[in-house]
Amino acid sequence: MRIGIGYDIHKLAQNRDLILGGVKIPYELGLLGHSDADVLVHAIIDSMLGALALRDIGYHFPDTDERFKGANSLVLLKETMKLIQNEGYKIVNIDSNIICQKPKLMGYIDDMRKNIAHALSLELNQVSIKAKTNEKMDSIGNGVAIAANAVVLMNKINA
Ligand code: ZN
Repeated sequence: MRIGIGYDIHKLAQNRDLILGGVKIPYELGLLGHSDADVLVHAIIDSMLGALALRDIGYHFPDTDERFKGANSLVLLKETMKLIQNEGYKIVNIDSNIICQKPKLMGYIDDMRKNIAHALSLELNQVSIKAKTNEKMDSIGNGVAIAANAVVLMNKINA
């Protein structure tokens, strides 16, 4: 078995879509980044790469690469799954947190879980997403940024 941890944070900005777990969430601000800035999917990708010591998201999908400009992070997630399978591993489960003061995410969590499970060919009960605020403290609590973290457990495909 292998375990991996991932973390990401993106700043909120004007004139950007807010995409979390592949779901476009209505809000006056969106996350700033080279790709679609899907902070949750980025944390999950890093946890998957970390589990097999395959470096990090910036190594595989550099933000200097025009191919990843505005990229749908779910596509990058699928690419990451190929790397994992090539190493002979499958995912047992994923647990994650989104730390976000505003907007309220409760109503979107199940759609995010479906998107991620679908991209990784997992069952819904293998993908957990929890939403938290930062109790109005620091940059996240003040609505300046949204962060996410994730852990993943993996097993050998033929184990
Ligand atoms: Zn990111």
